[in-house]
Amino acid sequence: MPGSFRIGKIAGIDIDINVSWIIILVLLTVSLATGWFPQLYPGWSTATYWVVGFISALLLFVSVLLHELAHSFVARRRGLPVKNITLFIFGGVSNIEREPTSPGVEFQMAFVGPLTSLLIGAVCFLLQLPLRGSNSPLEGILFYLAVTNVLLGIFNLIPGFPLDGGRVLHSIIWKITGNMSQATRTAAIVGQIIAYLFIFGGIWLFFTGYILDGIWIGFIGWFLLSASQSANTQGNLQSALRGVTVGEVMNHTQGNLQSALRGVTVGEVMNPTPPTVPANISLQKLIDEYFLLHGLRFALVMQADRLAGLITLSDIRHVPREQWGYTPVDQVMIPVERLHAVSPQQSLNDVLPLMAGRDVNQLPVVQNGIPVGILSRDAIVQYLEVRRGLGVNTPKSDAQNQFRKAA
Ligand SMILES: [Zn+2]
Repeated sequence: MPGSFRIGKIAGIDIDINVSWIIILVLLTVSLATGWFPQLYPGWSTATYWVVGFISALLLFVSVLLHELAHSFVARRRGLPVKNITLFIFGGVSNIEREPTSPGVEFQMAFVGPLTSLLIGAVCFLLQLPLRGSNSPLEGILFYLAVTNVLLGIFNLIPGFPLDGGRVLHSIIWKITGNMSQATRTAAIVGQIIAYLFIFGGIWLFFTGYILDGIWIGFIGWFLLSASQSANTQGNLQSALRGVTVGEVMNHTQGNLQSALRGVTVGEVMNPTPPTVPANISLQKLIDEYFLLHGLRFALVMQADRLAGLITLSDIRHVPREQWGYTPVDQVMIPVERLHAVSPQQSLNDVLPLMAGRDVNQLPVVQNGIPVGILSRDAIVQYLEVRRGLGVNTPKSDAQNQFRKAA
């Protein structure tokens, strides 16, 4: 996240703070010191209000941090690496580098956050009970933390992406249907319905006289709506983009792989009907009508019936989302001059180092200047699997396993 700096490390996880967090800390301290505490606890000195306001605001952020740490610890325990935690204007975000591998893992990972907040809230509530009516700063701080943590837990359980509740809902649908992309679509739709309910609720409050509440609720709805829309697209893109490059695999298994692929030609493994897209459509159209619709990760770009280049998901990732609507495919694709085309007769063993060295996942296959297919890393993996399934080349299963893992 731009504008963030590191404040430390907890159990090997970097903790970053975004500058927007400091603004919120100041605003929160001011509103607590001049509004919340003087109203609920009259009679303290001005200095006490400010000190208590500042401590409470800080402890609220500690609570948010604990919520995020809970997500991160469960993720790491389940084998998903955690890059860092960033605290920012809306709270915190854990940057977990891989998607959960099963609905159970996703459920635990998502649910533990709100659970932590609710637990902190409950503990603070119980601790302030004996102090009730003492009008002491400690009572004030504990009561404030009880209220905010319970709200934090409940708010995060709203079933809309990217809130934890959206994740929980996603994992439940995934578990029931057994289909992850189906779950993503359904959870995204539910999230958007909830976002619209907030927006309409906000508008209704606004026109019935609750102007500030209306604006606030409407704003939350708008935030949920834009976040759920981008989570849907990004989630699809990111899970498709994840994976190790051929180059890394080659370093480990070059020898084994080469003997497994001896005598195999490009023509035997290539996809003879590669997906093609026109060069002049926008990236948005490419994503909506080709990549997402047909689950593609790359396509040959055609200008009339001539090969103009190759477009992949990682090329699109380098273009900011706002520009997808008006950026044409041929501006982002790898043009044909820079593509290393191969012929169907070439041996796979000659071609693989080329893929590894240039770190590409697919190569166009060209015969007499006409594209006749595409050779992809996935196709090679599949080829190896089929051979293994048929019992061919069993001693090479080690290489296949490693290759498979990387895909
Ligand atoms: Zn959370």
